[in-house]
Amino acid sequence: MAEVSEDPKFTLRLLIDEEKNKVFLAEADRDFVDVLFSFLTLPMGTIVRLIEKHRKSESIGCFSNLYNSVADVGVDNFETEACQEMLLNPRSVKGIHCKRLKLNINPVDDLNYFKCSSFSDCNVCSKFSGSECVCGELMDQKIELSEEDQLASGGSIRNGVDGVFVKGRSSFIITDDFLVSVGSTGLVLKTLNRLGCSDVSKLGEQFLDVGLQEILTLLENMIFSNTPLTNTFLKKQSPRDVNDIQKLLMSLGVKVKTEFTLELDAIVRKQDMKILYVECGEDFVDFLFTFLAVPLEFVCDINLGCIGNLRRSFKDLSVVDHTASKCVLPYYYKCQKQLSGITIEEPPEYYRYRNSNPRQPDYSLTTDPDRTLLYRKDRLVPVTLIDPKCRGKDQSENGSGGFVKRGTRFTVTDDLIITPRNSLSTSICLLKKLQIQADDLEVQVISIREAEAMSLMRASLLTSSALNSAFWNLIAKKKIKEET
Ligand SMILES: [Zn+2]
Repeated sequence: MAEVSEDPKFTLRLLIDEEKNKVFLAEADRDFVDVLFSFLTLPMGTIVRLIEKHRKSESIGCFSNLYNSVADVGVDNFETEACQEMLLNPRSVKGIHCKRLKLNINPVDDLNYFKCSSFSDCNVCSKFSGSECVCGELMDQKIELSEEDQLASGGSIRNGVDGVFVKGRSSFIITDDFLVSVGSTGLVLKTLNRLGCSDVSKLGEQFLDVGLQEILTLLENMIFSNTPLTNTFLKKQSPRDVNDIQKLLMSLGVKVKTEFTLELDAIVRKQDMKILYVECGEDFVDFLFTFLAVPLEFVCDINLGCIGNLRRSFKDLSVVDHTASKCVLPYYYKCQKQLSGITIEEPPEYYRYRNSNPRQPDYSLTTDPDRTLLYRKDRLVPVTLIDPKCRGKDQSENGSGGFVKRGTRFTVTDDLIITPRNSLSTSICLLKKLQIQADDLEVQVISIREAEAMSLMRASLLTSSALNSAFWNLIAKKKIKEET
C-alpha cells in the first residue's frame, strides 16, 4: 500500500450534530461508495492483514488468532508451500473487479500463474507459487495471463455509466450506520427527521479529503462500532460496542439440513462446563482455515449493525444481480468439509502459447481460443490448473486436498489458536498455561453439524470465545443427559 505513491482522495461532505459531536449523514460520490462496497467482498484473512497492519494492536475476534496460526503452524505441517500462501494472502472471485476501484485497499498481483521448468511436457499451472507439479517439481516460474483475458473471465466490462459495484453515477448519502442510498433532498430531510434532527440550523457541515488511512479506519470501525463515520472522522477512536450484536448472534438459528458432520474431542472444565480446547484431525483445521478465504459479506450474512446495513444497500444499488447472494470461492479453496452456502467456482480453461518475442517469458496463457487467432491457433495447447493444495502425485486423484498434512492431530483453543499436536507434551503445556488441574477436566466427544459450523464462523468475527459461543449447547445437553 505504501508503494502506491499517489494515494487517491475522496471528497466527503459531512452533516454533523455539533452539540453531540455526531455525524448525521455523509454525502459521497459513486467511487467512494464502490470502495465501501468492496469491503464486503474482501476475504476475512485480507481484512485481518489490512487492519493488523494499519493498527498494530487490533485483533478481530478470533480471526486474528486463526490468521496468525497459519504462520505459526509452520510450513512443514501444510501439504504444500502454496497452502500457507493462499491463506495468508487469500484471493477472491471479486478481486478482479476491485482492480477498477479508484482506491483498491487490497491490490493483489493477480495476473501471474506458476509453472515448473518442464511446462511443455506437464502442461499444468497453478495460481500460487510453491505448488507441486504432477512431475514432482516445485512450480515457481511465472507465467502470465493477459489482463484482457482476466477481465473477460471475470465478466468485468466497463460500460462507462456504472461504477464497479454501483449502478449509475449519482451522488449518494450514507448514514452513520452505513445505510447507503441515492441522494435526494427528500431523502435527506426524511433521514434527518428519522434521526431526530428537524432543526436544520443546528447542523454543521464539514468537507473532508479522505484517503487510504481513513478508509482503513472506516473498515475497522465498520466491524467494531455502530457509528463508523462518527468514530472515524470526529472521535478518532474505535470503541467496541459489539455486545448487543453478540446476544443477537447467539439467538439466531441456522436452518440447514445437510450431511455436514465433524467429530471433535472437547476438553471441558467441569466446574463451569466451558470448552478449553478441542483436539481434532485435519478436517476441522482445514475447515477453520477456509474461513480466511470467505468474504466478510458471507461471514456476517445477517442483517445486523453496520455490515448488515451495508449489505442491504449493496443489494439495492448493485450492478450485479444479488438475488442469489451466494458466497463464491475460487476453485482452489475447495475442501472436504464445506458449508452448503458456499459455492466453489469452476476452474477456468486455459491454453498456452509460445511467445515469439524473445524478451517476453517463453509461454503465456489465454482463456479464449478464438481470440488467439492472433497467436496461431495450431500452437494452442490446453493447460490444466492444478489444486495448489495437492502434492504432485495426488493431483490425478479425484476430490480435493486439504491445507494441512493428512494424519496430523491439532489442538484448537476457544479463541482459535491452532497448534499441531506433535506429542503428549502439547496438551500438558496447554493445561499448565490454562492453570487447570487434571481432575477438573473431562473429555467429551462432540459432533458438529452445519448449524454449529455456521455459528462458529460468525462467532469468530464477533467474540473472542468462538468455540464456547458456537458449541455451548452441544456440551450443555450432554451434561443434562448425564445428570438425569
Ligand atoms: Zn512439471
